[in-house]
Amino acid sequence: MTLAIAIHGGAGTIRRAELTAERDAALRAGLASALDAGYAVLCAGGSALDAVTAAVVTLEDDPLFNAGRGAVFTLEGTQELEAAIMDGSTQAAGTVMGVKVAKNPIKLARRVMEATPHVTLGFAAADAFARAQGLECVPMDYYFTETRWQALQLEKARLAAGGRPDEAPADRKHGTVGAVALDGAGHLAAATSTGGMTAKWAGRIGDTPIIGAGTWADARCAVSCTGHGESFIRAAAAHDIAARISYAGQTAQAAAEALVHQTLTRLGGSGGVIVLDAQGRITMPFNSEGMYRAMLDGQGRREVAIYREENNSFSSR
Ligand code: ASP
Repeated sequence: MTLAIAIHGGAGTIRRAELTAERDAALRAGLASALDAGYAVLCAGGSALDAVTAAVVTLEDDPLFNAGRGAVFTLEGTQELEAAIMDGSTQAAGTVMGVKVAKNPIKLARRVMEATPHVTLGFAAADAFARAQGLECVPMDYYFTETRWQALQLEKARLAAGGRPDEAPADRKHGTVGAVALDGAGHLAAATSTGGMTAKWAGRIGDTPIIGAGTWADARCAVSCTGHGESFIRAAAAHDIAARISYAGQTAQAAAEALVHQTLTRLGGSGGVIVLDAQGRITMPFNSEGMYRAMLDGQGRREVAIYREENNSFSSR
């Protein structure tokens, strides 16, 4: 029996030289506790779906990451959260967008998957569904963090001075959390949750809640993406990786690296992906300066990392 899990906390890392030792340690601790939460589920015989839910809930509750509490702000100063979950064994999926009340958007996405005839619910309907389902709901200020608010002010000033949206610093442009897992029954699952991008237009939908763009799981692989959402949508990124594996017989590593280093780079998008295959192999390439990430693979290797140059075989070129 092979158990494996990988998580990411987004590709919006700040430059290594600017990251304080305290913040570095806090980010790594947050990643480790999400990884452990998911792995504990797997070790207790739980499903991959439950494992990715547990890992993402932990990251959503951590204000350091751009999902749930700690979500970034739209240009209008509001917060609109998105999440997606997919069960690789059935290809059932649930996604939500424009969420404003659910404490844990990933739980809401899962409820859409399990308790509605639909895949996606958005905005007022998603909020009403969260309440109707008795999920924990929070006032808007629950999501507020001073750091994200200041990031919006800086981004607005930069835009007002003629800066282009795609030239924002990585820590303002990116952030998202995600998890992929393989359980004892051999089933894969993927989950992704985000506040989107700082200063996005209100109503803008990113790749996270679009099945096949930011999130995918089938019998062969589970994928969660982070980065410039528009590029991931235009590349059908998560499904492109799955298609390379299924139709072209590529390894998960070759498929993920082709998507990130060829397709995504060609489209001018920055970011990364975490991919897990049915044998418990994990690959986590990115073309950004770093990607918050952690994994426990089928060979028993455990790793928590942020930057490219960290000594591991699972990051990037
Ligand atoms: N992909 C997310 C979005 O475009 C942001 C990110 O992952 O950094 O909304």
